[in-house]
Amino acid sequence: MAKLPTQQLYINGKYTNATSGETFETTNPATGDVICDVQIASTADVDKAVKAAQAGFKIWSKMSGTERSRILLKAVALLRERNDELAILEVMDTGKPMQEANCVDVESGAECIEYFAGLAASINGEHIQLANGNFAYTRKEPLGVCAAIGAWNYPIQIACWKSAPALACGNAVIFKASEVTPLTALKLAEIYTEAGLPDGVFNVVSGLGPVGQMLAEHEGIEKISLTGSVPTGKRVMESASKTLKHVTLELGGKSPLIVFDDANLDNAVSAAMLANFYTQGEICSNGTRVYVHKDIKDTFLEKLIERTSKMIIGDPMDLETHVGSLIHKDHMEKVLNYIEIGKNEGATLAYGGNQVTVEGFEKGCFIEPAIFTDVKADMRIAREEIFGAVMSVITFDSEDEVVEAANDTQFGLAAGVFTQDINRAHRVIENLEAGTCWINNYNITPIEMPFGGYKQSGIGRENGTAAINHFTQLKSVYVEMGDVDCPY
Ligand code: NDP
Repeated sequence: MAKLPTQQLYINGKYTNATSGETFETTNPATGDVICDVQIASTADVDKAVKAAQAGFKIWSKMSGTERSRILLKAVALLRERNDELAILEVMDTGKPMQEANCVDVESGAECIEYFAGLAASINGEHIQLANGNFAYTRKEPLGVCAAIGAWNYPIQIACWKSAPALACGNAVIFKASEVTPLTALKLAEIYTEAGLPDGVFNVVSGLGPVGQMLAEHEGIEKISLTGSVPTGKRVMESASKTLKHVTLELGGKSPLIVFDDANLDNAVSAAMLANFYTQGEICSNGTRVYVHKDIKDTFLEKLIERTSKMIIGDPMDLETHVGSLIHKDHMEKVLNYIEIGKNEGATLAYGGNQVTVEGFEKGCFIEPAIFTDVKADMRIAREEIFGAVMSVITFDSEDEVVEAANDTQFGLAAGVFTQDINRAHRVIENLEAGTCWINNYNITPIEMPFGGYKQSGIGRENGTAAINHFTQLKSVYVEMGDVDCPY
């Protein structure tokens, strides 16, 4: 495919040349082809975006929630109209299968904006009655300019998940996508402008880590919301501390999925596959430690391997493909290295784990989904986030033992339980140290449900009404109805 034109920054409602004179390449990981060059924002460009956002904020924050909602809903319609075109761009930039991108990536972003558009007119404070007719009221006010930094696995979804609540609350946004997937956030900016968002209310500054750092440190920015790894989260929090910004962090995980002996096994196998192999395993909340009760382990594995062996690895654009390309060569090497580590640590590679050469896509980064058994709690494959399709199956005997093992991690993003015993399901969930949990399913993230992590998996929540609290600040106002009681 011919190289696309160089991508500019998006500031103040239009495409703008960066002043750095520098660019980076974004590549299609399945083919190895350069998709296009992307301009890198300089400090001056970031300043310009902040100024535009501050000006946009003055207009946007004074509009009623209903007016904001109307514009956001137009963006939703445009996103849906452009679903196929955006899905193609997303598949090119990420290597993920089209069968996912064409119904999940853009649509889940659109749904998020639709949900927060629905809430925009109901973001209210409360009235508090006090003695002697006095009263107080609270106002939920926007924070100002919010910066959002995305990871590469769900580029447009992340841009929507962050901008939707921020904009619904009346904030302005400056977005930086991951350097490996910079394209669709720019399209979202175009769509917001076309929908009627005032200039400067949503800006995109592209670049590498240092551009993210400029945002995290900038004095004109009130909040930073990051989706990324734990080490980046720590760095962002440190940078943000210089100006005491509000911080939301959606970070990594090593989540447990517990399958008890009374579980519906076919459903549990479906969930374990979705929890490990969807998007080549490049999902933060994946249930990569699959704890299976010892009495059902053999049947579980038999069904799991049989179904996994039928997964189609190949051209991400082909609608039949289940497993596309990993994001880039370095990441593929990292995942393959973990598979070697697992073997060397003494785990049994029960299925897959080999690099695959796909005809016509010889430069792609394809790996067979991998299933390890005989995994022990102290092995690196059971402790570290791999971010690839590598499942560790671990057997257990008792409920207490499995809960303790599940919690024995620095992460706490997600967890799942499969059982038909409702008391056990709720009891186990209560004892799991994870922010997002599922009973008898996995990785379902309806926009109405808050999403986020415990422990080192993050701070704050996205989605649901919980997100509103992270994009507003509370002003308390006391109203005196009588005289001032003064002893002087
Ligand atoms: P990284 O942490 O490498 O990068 C995340 C973003 O931060 C990128 O845009 C990156 O820019 C930027 N960045 C890098 N350094 C800095 C810095 N010093 N200051 C500010 N920004 C910076 O994550 P990946 O993109 O590799 O994504 C994978 C990780 O994201 C995994 O750990 C995964 O678990 C996590 N994740 C979490 C999710 C959640 O909701 N909890 C969802 C999806 C992923 P650049 O790319 O240009 O270097």
